[in-house]
Amino acid sequence: MNWHAKEVQDIINQLGCDLKNGLSKEEGRQRLGQYGENKLNEVKKESLLMRFIKQFNDFMILILIVAAGLSIFLSFMQGEHDYFDAIIILFIVVLNAALGLVQESKAEKALEALKNMSAPNAKVIRGGKLQTIPTHELVPGDLVVLEAGDNVPADIRLTTTSNLKVEESALTGESVPVEKEFDCVLKEKLELGDRRNMVFTGSSISYGRAQGIVVETGMHTEMGKIASMILSHDDPQTPLQKKLSETGKVLGIGALSICFVIFLLGLLRNIEPFEMFMTSVSLAVAAIPEGLPAIVTIMLAIGVQRMAKRNAVIRKLPAVETLGSASVICSDKTGTLTQNKMKVVEVSNGFESLPRLDETKKYILQLATMCNDSVLEEGSLHKTAQGDPTETAIVMAALGLGVDKNNLDRTFMRVAEVPFESSRKLMSTIHRDEQKNTFLIVTKGAPDVLIEKCTHYYDAHGKKQLTSALKAKIHAENNKLADKALRVLGVAYKEVATKPHKLTPEGVEVELTFVGLMGMIDPPREEVREAVEICKNAGIKAVMITGDHVKTATAIASKIGIMDAYDKALTGAQLTNISDEELSKTIYRYSVFARVSPEHKVRIVKAFQSTGAIVAMTGDGVNDAPALKAADIGCAMGVSGTDVAKGAADMVLTDDNFATIVDAVREGRGIYANIRKSVHFLLSSNIGEILTILTAVLMGFKSPLLAIHLLWVNLVTDSLPAIALGLDPADEKIMDRKPFKNEKNLFTKSLWVRIGLEGCMIGLLALTAFSIGNVLFGSLTIGRTMAFATLSISQLVHAFNMRTEESVFSIDLLSNMYLIGAFVVGFAMQAAVIMIPAVALIFKVIPLTAIQWLVVLGLSFVPIAVVEAEKALWAHTKKAQPSHGAAVQEY
Ligand code: ATP
Repeated sequence: MNWHAKEVQDIINQLGCDLKNGLSKEEGRQRLGQYGENKLNEVKKESLLMRFIKQFNDFMILILIVAAGLSIFLSFMQGEHDYFDAIIILFIVVLNAALGLVQESKAEKALEALKNMSAPNAKVIRGGKLQTIPTHELVPGDLVVLEAGDNVPADIRLTTTSNLKVEESALTGESVPVEKEFDCVLKEKLELGDRRNMVFTGSSISYGRAQGIVVETGMHTEMGKIASMILSHDDPQTPLQKKLSETGKVLGIGALSICFVIFLLGLLRNIEPFEMFMTSVSLAVAAIPEGLPAIVTIMLAIGVQRMAKRNAVIRKLPAVETLGSASVICSDKTGTLTQNKMKVVEVSNGFESLPRLDETKKYILQLATMCNDSVLEEGSLHKTAQGDPTETAIVMAALGLGVDKNNLDRTFMRVAEVPFESSRKLMSTIHRDEQKNTFLIVTKGAPDVLIEKCTHYYDAHGKKQLTSALKAKIHAENNKLADKALRVLGVAYKEVATKPHKLTPEGVEVELTFVGLMGMIDPPREEVREAVEICKNAGIKAVMITGDHVKTATAIASKIGIMDAYDKALTGAQLTNISDEELSKTIYRYSVFARVSPEHKVRIVKAFQSTGAIVAMTGDGVNDAPALKAADIGCAMGVSGTDVAKGAADMVLTDDNFATIVDAVREGRGIYANIRKSVHFLLSSNIGEILTILTAVLMGFKSPLLAIHLLWVNLVTDSLPAIALGLDPADEKIMDRKPFKNEKNLFTKSLWVRIGLEGCMIGLLALTAFSIGNVLFGSLTIGRTMAFATLSISQLVHAFNMRTEESVFSIDLLSNMYLIGAFVVGFAMQAAVIMIPAVALIFKVIPLTAIQWLVVLGLSFVPIAVVEAEKALWAHTKKAQPSHGAAVQEY
C-alpha cells in the first residue's frame, strides 16, 4: 500500500492507533493473532529423510556400500550364500548415518536456540508506557520509538523526527545514510529510496531520533517482498573445520594408498582375494578420520551453549576457536570495566568545588537536567530516573536539591535538539523560555571540548568574558576532578531570540556561556581486577579504550591493574598525529586510549593485528560497527549495545562485562584443547589399526583383524571416547599458558611425532596379542580375538592419556564422567561381542579363557605406562629449553 502518500491522520484512522498512548496491551495481543508474527519466513528446512540420505553422500561410505554389494555378489557367485559380512557392513553404515544425523540435529538445535536468544527487540509505546518487546510481536498500528543504532523493526510511517538519518543500503543499495522527515505527504509513484517519510525493515538508524506508526509487518514489508532473494542458508565452515577437512582428505588419500598396497601384498601372499579386499576396504574406512569435521562441529556447538550460560552469546561459530587464540582484549571503560552506576559527587563552577547548598550548583544541575534524555518516573515510594546512567545521575542529583525534571520540562519546553554523539562528545537541546519569550540553548558534554565552544562564563552576577587564563583554570579544575577517577561533564548555555535555523553542531554549539562542571564516580566492577590478572597470566594484553578524559581513564586503569608503571596512555588527538607504521611499532606500550572516537578504534585494532595479535574488541554504538567487524572477535554489549553493533559483532555479552570476555576466552581455549585431544586420539588409534595390518601382511601373516573388527572398533571404541574427550572440563591451568596460535597450533610437529609413536605402540600391542594367540594358544581365531580385544581396549585406555599433558594420575579421573562412561560401555560391549557365543559367531571370534583375558588386559594397559614415560621425557626436554613469556604454548 502507498502509505507514504497518506496523511498521518488517515493512517491513524485506518489502523486505529493513538499517537500518545500507542496500542493497549490487549489490542496488541489481539492484532498479533490477526496479522501474524512480524517475521520473515524462514527457508524451508530439508526433510528428515533427505538429511538422512545426505549422510550417505560421503566417499568412504559409498566405498563401503560398494564393498557390501561386491561381497554379496561374490558370495552368491561362489555359491556360499554367506551374506553376514555384507549385512554387518550395511548395518554399520546405517547406524553411522543415524548417529551423524542425531549429532547434526543436536548441533543445529543448539545454534538455533542461540539465534532465538539473540532475537532483536523493539521499543514501543503501549498503554502509554515506553517498553521493549521482541520485534516479532510488533503489529500494524504500534507506535515505535527509534534511536541511533536501532534496526528498523517493521515498515513504519514516521510521525516525529529529530535529525533522522537512516542507512537503507540493504533495500536501496545507497550506502550513505539518507535524511528522513515526517511532515510531508508524497506522491504515489515513488521508488523506495525516495519515500522520505517512511523507514523500512532491514535498515538502521544512523543518527537522530524518531517515532512512527507500524504500517506493515512480516512478509508484507518491503523486505518481505524481496525476502526470497536474500534468505539463504549458508553456514560457512570455521577455519578449524576447514583445516580438519583438508587434513582428513590428505590422510584419507594416504590411507587409501596404504590399503591398496596392503591389498596387493595380501594377494602376493596368497591370501584369499575376497577376504583381502574386504579387509583393505574396511581398513580404509576405519583409518580415514571421516568423523573429524563432525566431531569439531559438535564440540563448537556445545562450547557455544556453555558460553551462553556464562553470558557470552556467540553469533558466528568461528569466534569460538578464535577466542582461544585471543592475545589482546580492547575494552570500553564505562559499563564494561566499570559498573556504570554513576553518582554525581562533586559540582564545581570551573574554579572551585561548590558547597551543597549553593545557587550556582543548583543552576548547573538544572541546566544539565534540561539537556537530558532520561525520564523521571513517579514510583510508589519515591521518584526514579530511567535512561543513560550518566544522565540519570544528574537528574537524581538535581532532585536532591529540589529540582524536578518533570517541572523543568513543563516550564522550559524542549523544541529541538542536536543529539549526543560519541565522536563529538557533546549534546545540545533548545528550549522555549515562555516568560522571557526567548529560546535557551543548553549544551553539556566533555569539558575539554565544551570549553572551546565557550566565549563567556557564568557568574552569580551575570556572564563574563572567558579569557585564555580562565580557560586554563577551568582545564586545571577538570584535571583535578578527573585525577580522582571521576567522569567529568561540563555544561553551558546561550540565550537566543529565535530558534536556530540550522540544527547542526556548527549552527547551535557556538559562543556559549560556560556554567560549571560535574564530577561523577563510577566504581570499577568487582570481578574486573581478577579478570585483568588472569589475562596477564594468560599472555593476553588488556587495553582500555574510552571516550572519557585521559586522567579519569588512567586513574581507573591503574586501580584495576590494566595500567602498570611502564604502561602509557594515548589520547585520540595524539593518535591522529601518529602514522600507521609508527603506531604499529609502539602500540604495545599503550594500555589506555582516552578521548578516542569510535573511528580511532579501527586504527587501534589494525595496529595490534599488524603485530600478529588476535584482537577482541568491545563496542556498543553505531559507529563502533566498523571496529567490531575489523576485530578478530567483535564483542557487542547486550544491555547497552545498539542493534547495529550487535549485528556487526561475533559475540554479544549479555551482561556487558569484561570478565565475561575473559571467561569466554577460557572456554574457547578449553574447546580448542579438547578438539586437539580428540584429533590426537583418533589419529593415533587409526594409525595403530593400519600398522597392525600392514606389518602382519608384510611379515607374511594372515590378517590379524577382519573387516568386521575394524568397523566395530571404528564405530564403538574410537567414537565414544573421542566424543567424551570433547566434553572434557577445561584444564585448571589453561589460563596460565600463552594463547594458542590459531590453526597452526593444531598440528605441531611434536604432536605429529607423538601421534605416530603412539600409533606404533597400539599396532605393536595388537600384533603381540595376535602372535601370542596364534603361537602360544595355537589358533588363528584365538589370535584374532585377542588382537581385536587388545586393539579396542587399549584404545579405550589410551583415551585417558589424552586428558592432560602431565601425568594422568595428577588429575581427578572422575572429573570427566563421560569418558568413564565411554570406557565402561565400550568395554562391556567388547566383552559381550567376544563372550556371548551367538554374537562371537557373527564376529568370527571365540570366547576367551581367563588367562587369555589376562594377557589382553595386561597388554591393553601398556599405553598408560608408555605414555606416562613419554610425557616425563617430553617435560624434561622442554625444561631444558629456555622458555619466554608467560607459559608453555606447545604440547
Ligand atoms: P566507553 O564506554 O567507550 O568507555 P564512554 O562511555 O566514556 O567511553 P562516550 O559515551 O563516548 O564514551 O563519552 C565520551 C564523553 O562524552 C564522556 O567522557 C563525557 O564527557 C561525554 N558524555 C558522555 N555521555 C554524555 C551525555 N549523555 N551528554 C553529554 N555528554 C556526554
